Amino acid sequence: MNTRYIFVTGGVVSSLGKGIISASIGKLLQARGYKVTIQKFDPYINIDPGTLNPYEHGECYVTVDGMETDLDLGHYERFTGIRTTRENSMTTGKIYQAVIDKERRGDYLGKTIQVVPHITNEIKARIKANATREHFDFVITEIGGTIGDIESAPFMEAIRQLRWEMGRSAINIHLTYVPYLNAAGEFKTKPTQHSVKEMQSMGIQPDILILRTEHHLEESLLKKVASFCNVDEDCVVQSEDLPSIYEVPLNMQKQGLDASIIRKLGEEVGHTPEMKAWRSFVKKEKEATKIVNIGLVGKYDLQDAYKSIRESLSLAATYNDCKAKLHFVSSEDIDKTNVAEKLAGLDGVIICPGFGQRGIEGKLVAAEYTRTHNIPTFGICLGMQMMVIEFARNVLGYKDAHSMEMDPKTTHNVIDIMEEQKNITNMGGTMRLGAYGCELKEGSKVRSIYAESHIEERHRHRYEFNNQYIDQYESNGMKCVGKNAESNLVEIVEIPEHKWYIGTQFHPEYSSTVLRPHPLFMDFVKTIVSA
Ligand code: GLN
Repeated sequence: MNTRYIFVTGGVVSSLGKGIISASIGKLLQARGYKVTIQKFDPYINIDPGTLNPYEHGECYVTVDGMETDLDLGHYERFTGIRTTRENSMTTGKIYQAVIDKERRGDYLGKTIQVVPHITNEIKARIKANATREHFDFVITEIGGTIGDIESAPFMEAIRQLRWEMGRSAINIHLTYVPYLNAAGEFKTKPTQHSVKEMQSMGIQPDILILRTEHHLEESLLKKVASFCNVDEDCVVQSEDLPSIYEVPLNMQKQGLDASIIRKLGEEVGHTPEMKAWRSFVKKEKEATKIVNIGLVGKYDLQDAYKSIRESLSLAATYNDCKAKLHFVSSEDIDKTNVAEKLAGLDGVIICPGFGQRGIEGKLVAAEYTRTHNIPTFGICLGMQMMVIEFARNVLGYKDAHSMEMDPKTTHNVIDIMEEQKNITNMGGTMRLGAYGCELKEGSKVRSIYAESHIEERHRHRYEFNNQYIDQYESNGMKCVGKNAESNLVEIVEIPEHKWYIGTQFHPEYSSTVLRPHPLFMDFVKTIVSA
């Protein structure tokens, strides 16, 4: 079958969950046996979100091939199990950079470079790029931002042209919001109508409308929207708030969204897949009653900042028949006098990743407390580095032990900068990024958790465990149990004597998916539940 293109846009307000809808559509098409990819086009000018503060844009997600991307790619991977690449994440910044590079090379042969056609052509080429390298039945393209944003105008024009050129091979799905006005006791469809009008004014007629709503909408209202917006009645579906995002694909399937998409694209609809494994996951999630309390010691009090960690924990909890109640503990507020109180009632603690000085001491205090109180602890990236520093200070006796990131003058640089990172001045895209191999030591806890000797995990950091200290750590009880075979860099530390005290230099949270939850998160939660 020829590649079909699905464009997903959003209107009325931001944060409607376009990423989850796109991921759900991907999942449903995949369940019908189609080969699918999902890509995100973001209208901001940053080359990638790697340099963005998590308060601006939530977590930075990293692909296997080392691209720092939008957190929506995390949803795509968790829902579909697809491994995305750098081609699945595009920004205005990258598009302009490519066009300007071509201009400098003289590729445009003396032409005046303009948004239309040069920028729009670049966008079009990149939307099609994934399918030129590999065959996909469906390419889902989510456009970031909200209809009407100045920044997204070139993207809308590119979609308009593509739809015109592709005819029945492309459709547009538009996600809007239907507010409920308490005082009037009514749902309001006017914002949706306006949003569709705005799209029409750009020459795009949505084929399918998905109405986000906090409460269930009556059939008559959906029909009204259909007739006001020139959309078939079976092409208006609602996405009401659900207890879990993982119920969204099932809710979409129930309303025939996947069937409508396939029909609109001129394909045979066929029977509706059962989605057995997915359903049983959702059932487990619904039925779990036991609660485990897990603390996230970090500096961003924002749902999206540690998105993949949160999702990985909740997936692991579901498979362990419990619910993970996550408690954010601000590392800036933790000190020796209050740590017991701050961590009271927590069954396990995650020491979160991060950059820079802020909140460092609190993470060290938390790591010491959980180490000495036998509380299951998982340190991720900076979290692992904090475990290492804390151990050096309090067990090896190096009071000034530190990371070169925070204290370049320390005489005990247990966390050091890699040689190849030393002269880097550009911050964007220059870290150790993407998947690297790691050999797991025979007899270690992690080896039995993974039940494998070789793993590959994704990285995003500049600093590393300083191998000069390996022997001292090992002889004092912290073992270096995962190493990269080529560079000999330490990727995992563990304290075998402890109930669960493991730190990973990599980010396991990026590769946990609904149907393949990550073994480390699984074992961490399992240890907590069975305690
Ligand atoms: N700041 C640390 C480094 O660059 C850790 C980064 C992280 O936690 N992702 O090595």
